[in-house]
Amino acid sequence: MPSEHQPILFTREETTKPIVAIVGCGFGGLQAAMHLVRHDIELVMIDRTNHHLFQPLLYQVSTAALAPSDIASPVRSLVGKHRNVSVIFGDVDGVDVAARKLCVRDTGTIDYDYLVVATGSAYTWFGHDEWAEHAAVLKTLPDALEIRRRVLEAFDWAESRDDKEEITALTTFVVVGAGPTGVELSGSLAELARATLKAEYRHIDPSKARIMLVDAAPRILGEFPEALSAYAKQALEHLGVEVRLNAKCERIDGRGIVIGGERIEAANVFWAAGTRAQPAAQWLGARAAKNNAVEVTEECSVPGHPEIFAIGDVSAFKTADGKTLPALAPVAKQQGAYVAKVIASRLGRRKHPGPFKYTNLGTMAVIGRSHAIALLAGMKLKGRLAWLAWSLVHLLLLIGFRNRLIVFTNWAYAFFTYGRGSRLVVGRPKRVVGGDFLTDPEELLNPAAPQAAE
Ligand SMILES: Cc1cc2nc3c(=O)[nH]c(=O)nc-3n(C[C@H](O)[C@H](O)[C@H](O)COP(=O)(O)OP(=O)(O)OC[C@H]3O[C@@H](n4cnc5c(N)ncnc54)[C@H](O)[C@@H]3O)c2cc1C
Repeated sequence: MPSEHQPILFTREETTKPIVAIVGCGFGGLQAAMHLVRHDIELVMIDRTNHHLFQPLLYQVSTAALAPSDIASPVRSLVGKHRNVSVIFGDVDGVDVAARKLCVRDTGTIDYDYLVVATGSAYTWFGHDEWAEHAAVLKTLPDALEIRRRVLEAFDWAESRDDKEEITALTTFVVVGAGPTGVELSGSLAELARATLKAEYRHIDPSKARIMLVDAAPRILGEFPEALSAYAKQALEHLGVEVRLNAKCERIDGRGIVIGGERIEAANVFWAAGTRAQPAAQWLGARAAKNNAVEVTEECSVPGHPEIFAIGDVSAFKTADGKTLPALAPVAKQQGAYVAKVIASRLGRRKHPGPFKYTNLGTMAVIGRSHAIALLAGMKLKGRLAWLAWSLVHLLLLIGFRNRLIVFTNWAYAFFTYGRGSRLVVGRPKRVVGGDFLTDPEELLNPAAPQAAE
């Protein structure tokens, strides 16, 4: 356990009520909180960001279709009105399981009687952490804004260059990983370039941008049946995405990527390949699965610690047939609601719900602005119908009426006009897009001070 933490908010002496601490206000943590707020407890919610984020629509922020505030809500605005809820902004970096204390970096400790760990996952680089310096990922709002900046600035820099090779590299975008995130990002990038930006440049033609989706696997969206993944590939290619399969990423550097022995010169590489659970297993001294997720019992608790639960992406829950549940929002939400019931039963407020059972409501992936594939209640859907189902489900799952209304309006506008309303880039960049290709990157990043008038 990290040292030098000062006690803060909830020492056990301050309250007669049981303290339930939830780390992570994503899908799992928020759902647990919503089910617990009405109980006579002190509920402490801790997150390193101030908002709950709807990650499935992040790719739309990264491609300028939606604004950050359309897909995120401040946690305080969602639960802060309940007098028994405290929202703490902080980064948890350890747990003293014997003393039942949670450590918040540079802030202090929180005593708990029950702990729900719902800290999610992060991208992993398959042992090549050096690639992170060059490729951008899509997990948080800052990530999405960084991708948006890189994409929009790449076109703007290309417009002012003369060198053909520089222009080609600036307008080449490689997405690594052909799961739902890679497919959604590459499809949306293609539409941005070929429809939205097409008419707005004079010296380059954005519709000629090269957008590639690469994966070492033999097909895209491998978790879907073959016919649906073949349809999705065709739909992507129709949008102008070049799909490269059986192509292992061997290197990412300042000049692009090497896949299957071939170097592709690209100013922008986006990484959507592998994920790994946040390091909660180490805090808890618990057994971790291969992806570092906490191996949990049939009631989502940590073996030997019935008072500690791990849910969502940070947990590895094995079903009766020995399979581990996937890292998906519905799994996290259902586990959140479930552990709230288990905690209520421990407090003597209701019957124990029995072992956790996941209800698979289906999976979907969207390709561009009007095509999707879906597996819903055993039915295989594709095309417009699947896209309508995808749109409806995502609108309903978004938190808050305001967000739903704004996202619906933006989608309707984009459907008819290809317009994207969130294209402002503000602030000075830390990295010049395509810096390794441009002749004067330092000059672009640190322009010389204006000469004083003689
Ligand atoms: C781009 C993208 C697209 C996706 N699309 C889909 C989709 O279409 N359908 C689907 O079902 N799933 C999708 N997913 C997966 C889905 O978002 C996750 O499975 C889901 O968010 C997991 O919920 P969670 O509660 O476990 O974690 P999260 O929702 O990730 O929440 C974790 C929270 O913990 C906080 N946190 C992390 N570490 C700490 C710490 N040390 N201290 C304090 N706070 C911390 C984070 O800030 C975050 O708020 C997508 C994911 C991504 C990245």
